[in-house]
Amino acid sequence: MTAYTVYMEQLGPLLAEWSRRMGVFVPVQIQEALYDFVPWSEHEEIAWDYDVAYNSIKRHFFPPRENLIRFDAAACTATPVFEAPDQLLFGVHPYDLKAVNQLDQIMEGGAPDQNYMRRREKTVIFALQPQRVAATAFWGSMGSGHVDIGFDLFWTKISPNAFYVEVGSPRGEELLLACGDLPEATLAEREAARRERTRILAEARGQGLKYPWEETPRLLARNWDSKLWRHKARRCLSCGSCVLVCPTCYCFEVREEMDVDMKGGTRFREWDGCMLPSFALVAGDHNFRGQALERYRHRYFRKGKYIYDKIGELGCVGCGRCVRACTAGIANPMAVYNELWEAEQHES
Ligand code: SF4
Ligand code: SF4
Repeated sequence: MTAYTVYMEQLGPLLAEWSRRMGVFVPVQIQEALYDFVPWSEHEEIAWDYDVAYNSIKRHFFPPRENLIRFDAAACTATPVFEAPDQLLFGVHPYDLKAVNQLDQIMEGGAPDQNYMRRREKTVIFALQPQRVAATAFWGSMGSGHVDIGFDLFWTKISPNAFYVEVGSPRGEELLLACGDLPEATLAEREAARRERTRILAEARGQGLKYPWEETPRLLARNWDSKLWRHKARRCLSCGSCVLVCPTCYCFEVREEMDVDMKGGTRFREWDGCMLPSFALVAGDHNFRGQALERYRHRYFRKGKYIYDKIGELGCVGCGRCVRACTAGIANPMAVYNELWEAEQHES
């Protein structure tokens, strides 16, 4: 894979050039120990060492609310709506990129989701090697510390003012060289990047699952009737925060809204979440997951088994956002899976 060396002082002109061509989003500190992606401007200080972004980047391909169709009620016509601006996400960590790769598979499978795919095609992703591991994260034990695909460039900070940048696509290379040629990375720089990745992966593996992640679907299959579900779900507020922050959740509902003049209207979709009581409500006022216990258990099966059965990967990348978002302190997949695992070890 071709790789270049980029120095910090070369970044300003590059960012300015990229932002002339498309919307550029970068991670910044928005509050004490809180980071998020925001539109880049020369006044923003990029948080190269951020641990996790508060919001998942999926909102750039799959917004919380998105118009799908405009219709004219009198003429009985409908026009699809596709909003897909050119955008560059700079600084995406591998676990979040793995979540994007997973969404790509799901949204492109079956009947491809045209709105998602058009936004995705217009998006450039520059991945960034994390320098720190969030206290709530467990991606090192979920096989999410490394990705081979999905990025246009992969940046690793190898010294206070230099990056080792691997090329993932012709589009990425063209953007990287937009302000002129750069030196190809040396073997020593390649080695420095490898050492940095090994260091952070070792740190990340220190907090996580106590068993190989591939065992999770079988672990769950044996524990449908575990007492853990009832015990934990007693504290669930059914607020849905855990699913709304998750980078791999993709459920939505579709609604329609008339304009004030009642001549036309819009069909749109909005994020939905399986932890919300209304999620499984159907005609006749029947709710097939009416109890908090059923919703709580479903979320862990969804993350640890159902998605795996579909695509061979867990539906949790270990970012730890849900852990932080849950005020009841019960949304941690790592803690739940470890508890089930330990209970089995004690029984045997
Ligand atoms: S379930 Fe939680 S830790 Fe896993 S990917 Fe979703 S938000 Fe991250
Ligand atoms: S597990 Fe926590 S975040 Fe999720 S719905 Fe229940 S209380 Fe809310």
